[in-house]
Amino acid sequence: MTRVWNFSAGPAALPEEVLRQAQEELLDWHGAGCGVMEMSHRGKEFTSIVETAEADLRELMGIPAHYKVLFLQGGATQQFAQIPMNLLAGRSADYIVTGSWSKKAFKEAQRIGSVRLAASTEGDGFTRLPTAEEIRLDPFAAYLHVCTNETIHGVEIPAERIADTGVPLVADMSSHILSRPVPVEKFGLIYAGAQKNIGPSGLTLVIIHRDLLGMAPLSIPSVMDYSVMAENGSMLNTPPTFAIYIAGLVFQWLKRQGGLAGIAAVNTEKARILYDAIDSSGGFYSNPVDPDCRSAMNVPFVLADPELDTTFLAESKAAGLMALKGHKSVGGMRASIYNAVPLAGVQALVDFMNDFARRNG
Ligand SMILES: *Cc1c(COP(=O)(O)O)cnc(C)c1O
Repeated sequence: MTRVWNFSAGPAALPEEVLRQAQEELLDWHGAGCGVMEMSHRGKEFTSIVETAEADLRELMGIPAHYKVLFLQGGATQQFAQIPMNLLAGRSADYIVTGSWSKKAFKEAQRIGSVRLAASTEGDGFTRLPTAEEIRLDPFAAYLHVCTNETIHGVEIPAERIADTGVPLVADMSSHILSRPVPVEKFGLIYAGAQKNIGPSGLTLVIIHRDLLGMAPLSIPSVMDYSVMAENGSMLNTPPTFAIYIAGLVFQWLKRQGGLAGIAAVNTEKARILYDAIDSSGGFYSNPVDPDCRSAMNVPFVLADPELDTTFLAESKAAGLMALKGHKSVGGMRASIYNAVPLAGVQALVDFMNDFARRNG
């Protein structure tokens, strides 16, 4: 069996160690006589799995006790609606649009209630962050929504640019959660679909400040109400048990990598060598994003000659480099270099890119 270097944007690569452990435990988890997929979510075995997963996540991210951790379903896309359903409470909310995902979140929220565009960089093709002067905030907003890593445009908000605005900050962290330390207490709500940097699809993580619970109108369905889910330990109904189990194994793997500071050091180096290869290619490859907000997780780039795209994709695939085709809305290439893609994988990509440029430049 040969595993390729997987640069898929999501569902994405998982750590090989985690997959091997899951394989070993697939038929019989810790002597239970059955696998995790086959056991009750209310039994003592699964209870220990979910409790360990939550404790490990709290330790990794430094989540204070006054935040609830929810293991939900429906993806980040469901959160685009669930957030305004729960938090608007008849008021208005602000959205900063820095790429396709925050634009989608803003659009979906308009179906639920009143929302305002506080800033958008769409006029510049989503290649930068708005300046402080460009952001017009409503001081009475129910919350301010941002996407801290735009998976398609490759724009990431550096941690030091997360400022207190006086209203609860809500962040879509789907594609860079767990990639670096995050100041959780600066946020009212953090959410992420699991399939980028946490585990399998089907699980959605929500980390919510206690003060934001209990605001939803009674008219919304109970599975959509954060406080109902929190009161029921995310188990009002059957949770995505297998996805939670794999996420828990990923959390343990992250602890073995030195936690978020440990993995961040590797991620920084991965991003550095890849952007260096792009920037030092003499224009053969280019990335349009402002260097001060380039994503360390999703690296879009184009070839100066798009006629070479097909050859680049065919040859990279033959070289064991999978899923480098860019998102259809921006074209070109994209390398997603999540936690589970090791430095050796990015080095293999860089070597291929240098060689390809030499042969075709
Ligand atoms: C993938 C992604 C989404 C959508 O996630 P689903 O789980 O498919 O709903 C939303 N936001 C960001 C930043 C993403 O990367």
